[in-house]
Amino acid sequence: MKLLKIKSLPIFIHPTFFILIIIMIALGYIEQFFILFFVTSIHEMAHVLIAYLCGLKIAKIILLPIGEVAVLRDLDHTKPLCRFLIVGAGPMINIFIGLLLYLFISPKTPQLYFFMMTNLIIGFFNLLPIYPLDGGRIFYFFLSNRFGILRSNKAIQKISRSMSIVICFVGLIQIIFYPFNCSLLSIGIYLYAIHEKEYMYLFYGFYKNLSLKQKKLQTQKLVPTKTIVAYKNTLIHHIAKELSWDYYHLIFVIDEKGHIIDHITESQLCEYLLLGHMHDSLEACISYIAQKII
Ligand SMILES: [Zn+2]
Repeated sequence: MKLLKIKSLPIFIHPTFFILIIIMIALGYIEQFFILFFVTSIHEMAHVLIAYLCGLKIAKIILLPIGEVAVLRDLDHTKPLCRFLIVGAGPMINIFIGLLLYLFISPKTPQLYFFMMTNLIIGFFNLLPIYPLDGGRIFYFFLSNRFGILRSNKAIQKISRSMSIVICFVGLIQIIFYPFNCSLLSIGIYLYAIHEKEYMYLFYGFYKNLSLKQKKLQTQKLVPTKTIVAYKNTLIHHIAKELSWDYYHLIFVIDEKGHIIDHITESQLCEYLLLGHMHDSLEACISYIAQKII
């Protein structure tokens, strides 16, 4: 549901936001709800501010029961340092506020104590390496540049699923000791479900990234390069596993004697890959390029 528009920035509100307010009023937790909402707003605004300073456009802001979520345009295609600062800004501001209160103010009122603890919990919790939490995103970007996008997709899926299950398990223990408190279990189930949904976008993102790399090269004029040396009979999907997010790849193709027989740019490889030739060899890719040139 669209709420308002500030300078062409649409702000949406999710219907469950109202449902949660009603539940919180009924349970007598409305004060805690607004503190929690304020803390998550600080978190999200930190992301938005750094994104704005890095020149990124904010597509929309959605008010969810768990706080605001800012949808940023082209985050995956911005410079690695900007991406790290944008994603890291949210948890860092919460941890900074929490530590500042703990070290210098020592909150006396229950409200201020709750505010401090919420900042610390949200800050540290968001640093867990579960995709799509902030920590998971940072970890994923690090992995994908080190081990290639496809391999990192699989690794982040295993890590995120396992950690969500661990949180669910701890949530079950929590219910045994504190009956009716299913907060951790709900968070674990929510994280598992949202990861499954986001994981689909990761695979879509792989192909999107490949096709947008050419555009990035044209706008930035230069992109850091990685070279890959492979035998002519190496299969395309083996090379695809090596492709990473922030580098433009040049593939040097060698024969059995180790002599360079040709080279393929990432754009050429991707064009061939997107035609569905995952299981062809580099040699077949070279023939395809030669035919196209003729
Ligand atoms: Zn965040």
